[in-house]
Amino acid sequence: MQTLDIHNLKANDIIRKCVHCGFCLATCPTYQLLGNELDSPRGRIYLIKSALENNESSADSLQHLDRCLTCRACETTCPSGVEYGHLLDIGRAAIEDKRALWQKTFRFAVRKFLTTPVLFNMVGFLFRHSSIQTPVIKPKISGKKVLLLGGCVQPTLAPNINHSVKNILTKLGYKVEETPQKQCCGAIDQHLSANDEALQKIKKNIDAWHSFEVIISSTSGCGVMVKDYGSLFDKDDVYYQKAQTVSQNTCDIAQFLADKDLSIFKTFNQTITYHSPCTMQHGQQLGGLVESILKRLGYEPSTVADAHLCCGSAGTYSIFQPKLSQQLKINKLKNLQASSPEMIVTANIGCLMHLQKGTKIPVKHWIELLGN
Ligand code: SF4
Ligand code: SF4
Repeated sequence: MQTLDIHNLKANDIIRKCVHCGFCLATCPTYQLLGNELDSPRGRIYLIKSALENNESSADSLQHLDRCLTCRACETTCPSGVEYGHLLDIGRAAIEDKRALWQKTFRFAVRKFLTTPVLFNMVGFLFRHSSIQTPVIKPKISGKKVLLLGGCVQPTLAPNINHSVKNILTKLGYKVEETPQKQCCGAIDQHLSANDEALQKIKKNIDAWHSFEVIISSTSGCGVMVKDYGSLFDKDDVYYQKAQTVSQNTCDIAQFLADKDLSIFKTFNQTITYHSPCTMQHGQQLGGLVESILKRLGYEPSTVADAHLCCGSAGTYSIFQPKLSQQLKINKLKNLQASSPEMIVTANIGCLMHLQKGTKIPVKHWIELLGN
């Protein structure tokens, strides 16, 4: 990962690309809810610029950056290619010292709880999404080896997702190796400005994963982070090349299955709606891919109004910004339920758990539709 100076150079390059056109305001969920320029992408770019160039920042600036979901809808909209997500990480780290002690302590506790399996598993099973229904089948064919990113909270909260992915890949003839739960991708640390701890995890992961030719993620939040490893190191860094390899070899399970024959899988006769996570449609720019696979399988996912907007889950956002998160969830569920579907499906554990808290309609990972 780069030094502060290199971070500032990178930030300046990103900031210079912004032509202040304001197109991004229309698709920013926090600007839509709050109507304040400082809670928009353009306003936050201004705050980060002031913090980096003039050392002008305050607890108020931090609050506006904290309200950002990191959904990156603004990146999808921006005609100038402003890499807002990278800029936000740099800006948050630069203003972090303005944070009150109680906030630092709370964020530290949440971060450690979520990323330390021995702690998380003590109570995480109480929040389990559904009973385990899909035991893993034994491989009949040991074909090409693939690495499945198991995730740090997904195996405890919704074990059926990884079981389904493993069964599908095994039926297709792949030998699946799964990462242990302690190999967190580093996203939670990075988004909570614990950059040094994120870097330690990322380097360990790169060392453990760089020899795999195919790395599969079924959690779009982890997928977007691992695909970004390549951009975190300077070209002179010994990790640069290995990080590039890991990022290039990583794909979402939807990308992996896009060209495979899925006719061997049983599907269900249910009406569904698909919620596209921000990390899928904006972070990985894979909008429409899951929908096209679902259609190939015979499902007809209904059209969802404002599908580009975040559901309010956004990593740890629902813990630190509960009011905004709740409002975004209510808005999202209203649109997802408009067609009265029998099931809502998505592609990220965070969205899944968050949405399920607000509806009686079952919310599942789309991969579970063909996992048996
Ligand atoms: S971030 Fe992009 S869309 Fe937003 S104001 Fe700047 S150039 Fe325009
Ligand atoms: S990442 Fe999302 S919430 Fe943050 S400024 Fe961009 S559109 Fe708004």
